[in-house]
Amino acid sequence: MDKVNLIGMELGEIEGLLSQMGERSFRAKQLMKWIYGKGVGGFSQMTDLSKGLRERLAAVFSLGGMKLVQRMDSQVDKVTKFLFELEDGERVESVLIREGRRRTVCLSTQVGCPLGCRFCATGRVGLRRNLRAGEIVGQVIEVGRVTGERPTNLVFMGMGEPLLNYEEVLKSVRIFNSPYGLGIGARKMTLSTAGLVPQMGRLTREGIKLGLAISLNAPDDKLRDWLMPINRKYPLKGILKAAKEFTQIHRRRVTFEYLLIAGVNDSFDEATKLAQMVKGIPCKINLIPYNPIPRAKFRRPDPQRVEFFRRWLYPLTSTVTLRESKGKDIGAACGQLQALYR
Ligand code: SF4
Repeated sequence: MDKVNLIGMELGEIEGLLSQMGERSFRAKQLMKWIYGKGVGGFSQMTDLSKGLRERLAAVFSLGGMKLVQRMDSQVDKVTKFLFELEDGERVESVLIREGRRRTVCLSTQVGCPLGCRFCATGRVGLRRNLRAGEIVGQVIEVGRVTGERPTNLVFMGMGEPLLNYEEVLKSVRIFNSPYGLGIGARKMTLSTAGLVPQMGRLTREGIKLGLAISLNAPDDKLRDWLMPINRKYPLKGILKAAKEFTQIHRRRVTFEYLLIAGVNDSFDEATKLAQMVKGIPCKINLIPYNPIPRAKFRRPDPQRVEFFRRWLYPLTSTVTLRESKGKDIGAACGQLQALYR
C-alpha cells in the first residue's frame, strides 16, 4: 500500500489521520513543527515522539516526493536556482534570492503555464499540470534543507499562473502562514497574477493579507492583447477595477509590474498612458528590463532608455521602482524559468 505523504497537509487533516491511528490530536501540532518548521526528512529525527510512535508513523506516512535534480549558483548575484523532479517525473524550478538578511523563495505553482505570454519561457511549455499544495510547500522545505538557510519571504512568481491553481495555492499559503507550519506572515508573501479578474476578486475577499502584484506590461488593450493573450478574456478595465478593490479592502498598495521591452512598450507615450491608466489606484509601478529567452525576438532596452522611461514616469505617478532581475546568468530571472527544456 502506498504511504500517505504528509507534506501539504494542514493541521486538521493530520489530526484526522492520527485519530484514525488512535493517537491524541496534540501530536499533530508536534508533527507539523517537525515537518514544516524544522523541515526534517524522516520520522526518526522527531525526537520528542516515542520510538514506537515514530516507527508506526514511518510505516504508513512519508515526507517528501520531490527530488533535487540540479542546483545552480549565480556567479554574479546572491541567487540560487533549483530544479526539482516531482513524483511523476515532471519538473519545476524555484529560485532563492538573498538580500541582506532576507531570504526570498520564488515559487512555481504549475508545471508550465497555459497563458502563453510572448515574453515568457514558461508560457512556451503550455500547461502540463497544476502543482499540489504539498509540491508548492515542498519547494520551500527543500530549499531550506539544501541550503541550510531559512526562507523569510515568499513570492508566487515562478512557473505558472497561481490564480489558475487557486485552491492548492491558498492551501499552501495557509500552511506557510500557520504557527505550526512555517510561520511566515501573509504580509511577507506576494502573489503575482497576469490578471485573472474573478480570482483576483475572490482572493481580495478571502481575508488573507497577501501582497498582490499584477503583471501589466502594456498601457492599452491592443498591445496587451498581443503580449498577453489572456487580456482578450480579461481586459484592462476589469483588472484595474479588481486592483482598486484590493487596495480599498486591504488598505495597502498593489504592485504593477511592467516589463520593459525595446521598441515594444518603452516609449514616452507609453509611459504617459501607463501613468494615466493607474491614476487613482494606490500602487507601486515596478519596472523590469526584459530578460532574454531563447528564440524570442524581443530585446531589452539599453540602460539609458530604461532611465529615461523611469524619469518620465516618476513625476506622473507616486512610486516607481526599477528592479533588475537577479540570476540572469543562470536563467533564474523574471520570465526565464522553463525547467522542461533541459
Ligand atoms: S508570464 Fe506568468 S502567466 Fe504569463 S506565461 Fe509566463 S508564467 Fe504564465
